[in-house]
Amino acid sequence: MQNLAILTKYLTRIPLQCLDIFFPVPCESCGNIMDSSTMPGIFCPDCRRLLPEYPMINCDRCGARIPDPAMSTKDGCYCCTNSHYRLGGILTLGPYHKDARLSRMILSLKHGAKTWYAREFGWRLAQTVKREYPDTTFNAIVAVPLHRSRLRQRGYNQADLIAGAMADSMGIPSYRWLLRRFRRTKPQSGGRELRHSNVSGAFEAGGICRNAKIILVDDVVTTGATTGECARVLFEAGAQDVVVAACAWVPVLRNTGSSQ
Ligand SMILES: [Zn+2]
Ligand SMILES: [Zn+2]
Repeated sequence: MQNLAILTKYLTRIPLQCLDIFFPVPCESCGNIMDSSTMPGIFCPDCRRLLPEYPMINCDRCGARIPDPAMSTKDGCYCCTNSHYRLGGILTLGPYHKDARLSRMILSLKHGAKTWYAREFGWRLAQTVKREYPDTTFNAIVAVPLHRSRLRQRGYNQADLIAGAMADSMGIPSYRWLLRRFRRTKPQSGGRELRHSNVSGAFEAGGICRNAKIILVDDVVTTGATTGECARVLFEAGAQDVVVAACAWVPVLRNTGSSQ
């Protein structure tokens, strides 16, 4: 027992860099061995530069930070067209295009079980939130939940993994129980109205989030129907502000993807 205590004491003193010798981490893109200082992402600094930062714009009507001018018309954007609440903003890492590097990574995380991609997405989204909201203190991070039957099927919720990685990068707690999907919905397809009626009433809040500023995480925002419904539930549970953070959004004119 004493030997174990001594071993533990010395192991905890080994600098992270030394662990690279025993557990080398290759860059996901080029295969070069990374040093621990580039963690928690999965790309070396050179390859990380290949996924450029994507600047957000302001909605003309409400001023929310959004990724796409096409999301905003003179009547408003996804953040301000709902009469019951106003989203604080929608932050993404880039557009969702078939065959683009970002989209391939999302699909690999979602269907290819490359769960470690969530670390890169979480880290990058954390940087994006800090860049876009430098003066805001967020209280909680929550992922768009999967229905338990789909969770059983897939084994993990990709949005939840991203939320966990974001929470680690930002030092903010991620609460799984804040949202629950108690009705299984059909895979999302069709226009915004159809998608909205598909997810309407599918979520419930698992607790009170009075006056909390919450980051709501999803992998892809398509029409905003799913994240919008989750936001409605969070606002009804007392949230003061909800900002959506997603890996990508489907540009409005190319609305053919699926958000689930
Ligand atoms: Zn690399
Ligand atoms: Zn707006």
